[in-house]
Amino acid sequence: MASIKLLLANDKVEGIRYYEAYRKHGGYTAVEKALKTLTPDEVTEEVKKSGLRGRGGAGFPTGMKWSFLAKPEGIPRYLVCNADESEPGTFKDRYLMEFIPHLLVEGMIVSSYALGANTSYIYIRGEYAWIVNILEQAIAEAKQNGWLGKNILGTGFDHEIYVQRGAGAYICGEETALLESLEGKRGNPRIKPPFPAVKGLWDSPTVVNNVETIAAVVPIMNHGAEEYAKIGVGRSTGTKLISACGNINKPGVYEIDMTISVEEFIYSDEYCGGIPKGKRLKACIPGGSSVPIVPANLLFKTAKGETRYMNYESLSDGGFETGTMMGSGGFIVFDEDQCVVRHTMTLAHFYNHESCGQCSPCREGTGWMYKILKNIEYGKGKMSDIDLLWDIQRKIEGNTICPLGDAAAWPVAAAIRHFRDEFEWHVTHPEECLTRNFGLAHYADERLIPA
Ligand code: SF4
Repeated sequence: MASIKLLLANDKVEGIRYYEAYRKHGGYTAVEKALKTLTPDEVTEEVKKSGLRGRGGAGFPTGMKWSFLAKPEGIPRYLVCNADESEPGTFKDRYLMEFIPHLLVEGMIVSSYALGANTSYIYIRGEYAWIVNILEQAIAEAKQNGWLGKNILGTGFDHEIYVQRGAGAYICGEETALLESLEGKRGNPRIKPPFPAVKGLWDSPTVVNNVETIAAVVPIMNHGAEEYAKIGVGRSTGTKLISACGNINKPGVYEIDMTISVEEFIYSDEYCGGIPKGKRLKACIPGGSSVPIVPANLLFKTAKGETRYMNYESLSDGGFETGTMMGSGGFIVFDEDQCVVRHTMTLAHFYNHESCGQCSPCREGTGWMYKILKNIEYGKGKMSDIDLLWDIQRKIEGNTICPLGDAAAWPVAAAIRHFRDEFEWHVTHPEECLTRNFGLAHYADERLIPA
């Protein structure tokens, strides 16, 4: 199937990072169309009709989120772009911002017009320091050419965009922690409600959207909501950016039509290009480190024996028992040599380190999970530790202020659910664990997909 490119249609065009080339290739026509021919409510209606869902991980319908924005008289509203892309395995927003920054700027202007926001912010993760300059240059170019500032296109709409750099905390990707940080405070998630749509940045109504979500508003405007909604399947409309990494021949950022199968995505030369050195496929995390790992035998086919596709519904088919999630699109592939226990321990360490510490199930639970996993990984674990781990993750899930608790619990639960024997093997083979000599011959089972 020929691939459809909406966001990355021109990413290889020379100079597309700069205004001249971007404009020459159709840039800022979405702003013209929205501001000159549509009312703000009509733009929101178009986004609703397009079926666009938030591309940051939660997949909430974007138009609906916009329609929740409170509009009290005399109070400013804000659009905040969540560019704090810190989920391990996810780097698609980085690609967009680094190579096609004007696409984000254009999407910010159209989205802000729809929301009635005269000021918007791009909150970018601190580690993306070099991209701050790229974005600021794009914003300056947009302003020089009349797309930002006062009375844009003579429509009476004023807009300014500011870039704010984070300081390296994963938790600031959570929208209320991000708002706290943007206000200059420690990035602790807020208790909801109130939701940002009512009380967000500086207590004003605020919409927080992911980079890819905002960029997708541009092709929706250019092609029309109906055309956009024809791409994809079911409630997975439009295209999705996937950042693919791990044991694949062609790591990178791909724009997919969400009708392609997972098998095609991994093995086709157009995308991941298969597993290096003819190794067998063991497992995959398709949506960033927070979503459940799936063994290869459940990756290409659902538990009902149906083909699994690269979209929200198909990836989550079977719930967490046999399915997973689209998440942020951080697609991590594991070949037969990878150790699930080691991987789970690394993630547990990450979430423990990134916990803000406000709620005890997350603060204490992530620490305990890491300690127990470390013991198992390094040959000092007991069989009862596996049940203890299971028990701890159950007590974290759903019992915390923000989703980081769930994000820490789900990988542990999925690893035990699907690879319990690998945990047991670590307990019964302490010497091999200590010498890092994992004989994975015990893994010659039906969960692996041959090369
Ligand atoms: Fe902080 Fe973790 Fe609680 Fe989120 S779940 S508020 S990160 S302690």
